[in-house]
Amino acid sequence: MYDLVIVGAGPAGATAAIVATRLGLRTLVVDRFKPPREKPCGGGLTPRTWRMLERMGIEYSWYGECREVRVKVADINYTHRGDPIRVTRRPEFDKALLDQSGAEFAVDRVLRVEGGRAVGERGAYEGAVVVGADGANSAVARSLGEPPPSPKTHGIAFMSVAGGSLGDTCIVDFDFAHEETGGVGYAWAFTLGDRGVDVGIGIGWGPWADLRGPLAKWAESLGLRTGAVMGHPLSLGSVRRLGSGNVILAGEAAGLVDASTGEGIYYAVATGALAAQAAYVALKVRGKPAEAAGIYAE
Ligand SMILES: Cc1cc2nc3c(=O)[nH]c(=O)nc-3n(C[C@H](O)[C@H](O)[C@H](O)COP(=O)(O)OP(=O)(O)OC[C@H]3O[C@@H](n4cnc5c(N)ncnc54)[C@H](O)[C@@H]3O)c2cc1C
Repeated sequence: MYDLVIVGAGPAGATAAIVATRLGLRTLVVDRFKPPREKPCGGGLTPRTWRMLERMGIEYSWYGECREVRVKVADINYTHRGDPIRVTRRPEFDKALLDQSGAEFAVDRVLRVEGGRAVGERGAYEGAVVVGADGANSAVARSLGEPPPSPKTHGIAFMSVAGGSLGDTCIVDFDFAHEETGGVGYAWAFTLGDRGVDVGIGIGWGPWADLRGPLAKWAESLGLRTGAVMGHPLSLGSVRRLGSGNVILAGEAAGLVDASTGEGIYYAVATGALAAQAAYVALKVRGKPAEAAGIYAE
């Protein structure tokens, strides 16, 4: 039996694992994929995100920096210059975090959580506390009674790593997304340095749509060529349940995304760290694992 079983090795689960092992908790991370694995994402780490990672002493690589962000909204153009957004690739970023944890790791698709057991296709994993960090389509959240993602709670976003270069400039265009899809959201182009450009379109508060056509057009308008295209639901920020008893939900499993920008990595890292701390207090200070979700919610 583990002190902590973490379902999901994205930024929420990997950060929870780093903090848990630093606190001396015997920790297992279960993910349906062996890292490195793809996760559709813009890879944008805002200044508050990379500062938090720095404060926690967590290391990772990034490939481009948005030193200026050109924004277009309602026919208004403005350029934001400030602390840069660092742009990473999620396969490498998530693996770097998980590797730093030193936690045990198992590949399995978790189907549900029963008490302190995460039940997967290949086995059951027992933890005094379980953290559901399994993202937008969280099986752990569904075990607690949450509905699967739908257009009521989640938008949809498509991305690709495109060939070409934008230098240190990044672009966020709300008008393009609206004109091409009729939806509310934005198209982005985030520089990945000599690895190309992360381009994407996300929309919410309406029906889900296949955005591959608009994405190709967006890239073309910037003189870029899309590669493989991936789509994924994205929480609209409606915070779901934060857990129950000895089961805690962290990151997007709890719906924690900024609804106006789609920024989710910040909340994933922050709540992953908080989840591990709550588990530690419940287990090692109070000796009552069933209080973990209550401590976390406070
Ligand atoms: C196209 C797109 C672009 C985005 N761009 C940005 C951006 O630029 N900046 C930003 O801050 N945010 C962005 N976001 C949001 C961000 O990607 C997410 O909010 C963030 O990844 C959430 O982290 P997480 O650790 O909670 O979940 P995830 O990163 O989704 O990780 C969940 C993990 O759980 C695993 N898993 C899932 N189900 C199971 C299961 N049943 N059993 C076992 N393992 C399971 C998955 O394999 C995965 O490793 C974007 C989202 C999308 C869709």
